[in-house]
Amino acid sequence: MTITTIPADHPRAKSLHTREMLVDGFKRNLVVAEGLIAHGRGEAFDYLIGERTSAAAKKAIRAAAAALLLSNKKAVLSVNGNAAALCPKEIVELSKITGAAIEVNLFYRTEEREYAIKAELEKHGARNVLGVGPRASAKIPELSSERRRVDPDGIFSADTVFVPLEDGDRTEALARMGKTVITVDLNPLSRTAKAAHVTMVDNLVRAMPALVQEAQALKGKDAKSLERMVRAFDNKKNLAQSLKKIRGGAL
Ligand code: ATP
Ligand code: MG
Repeated sequence: MTITTIPADHPRAKSLHTREMLVDGFKRNLVVAEGLIAHGRGEAFDYLIGERTSAAAKKAIRAAAAALLLSNKKAVLSVNGNAAALCPKEIVELSKITGAAIEVNLFYRTEEREYAIKAELEKHGARNVLGVGPRASAKIPELSSERRRVDPDGIFSADTVFVPLEDGDRTEALARMGKTVITVDLNPLSRTAKAAHVTMVDNLVRAMPALVQEAQALKGKDAKSLERMVRAFDNKKNLAQSLKKIRGGAL
């Protein structure tokens, strides 16, 4: 990786480092230019929530880990370019702990990028990456973007899908298909945040390690207590808490 000259004591070091990871991902054909802009929208919200994992986000992370562990019809972790650039290691770890499959799913789909992302995930230990090339032969109904193309053995037949940094249209379509939808989205007002069943309003670079840790901690708990955790989670209430945090910022 071509990480450069950000001094460790720079007040925005972490944020700048994350940008570099995305620019590096862009150079390696994992990330598209539009993905860099989408990250900018996320960053603005991160600034407003104080660039820390909030109490509300912690609750959502716990509910998300429980939902992934509970899935009985194979959960799927959907990976786009930004996610592959920011947290390939954690995606693979989460897949190993929960038994969820990994599927590449891109808004701006080209075969070259699909294979580049697959290779990046494999470099971090992934096996059997779904959704690449001819495998993405099924279609999500009522969606027109290239993101409708999914793997019949993956997202199409899954009961639970984790779609970090997702577009609202597809989140809504997946929810309409009856799937439990889990996302990470820094904007509590996005259509994705509102349509998902569990939304972690947090930066992906913080939420993913926390989610891996939580899944590890909850693994082995009986289904009843996991179910209770999922049922006790109210996404709308949780989003309102995040919004309150944003509004509460003082000079
Ligand atoms: P929607 O389609 O859901 O209404 P949108 O069109 O505003 O949302 P998209 O570009 O479709 O947004 O998706 C990107 C989303 O991901 C944005 O809501 C943005 O805030 C969020 N985002 C970008 N980078 C990160 C990140 N690193 N961590 C968490 N969320 C992020
Ligand atoms: Mg969108």
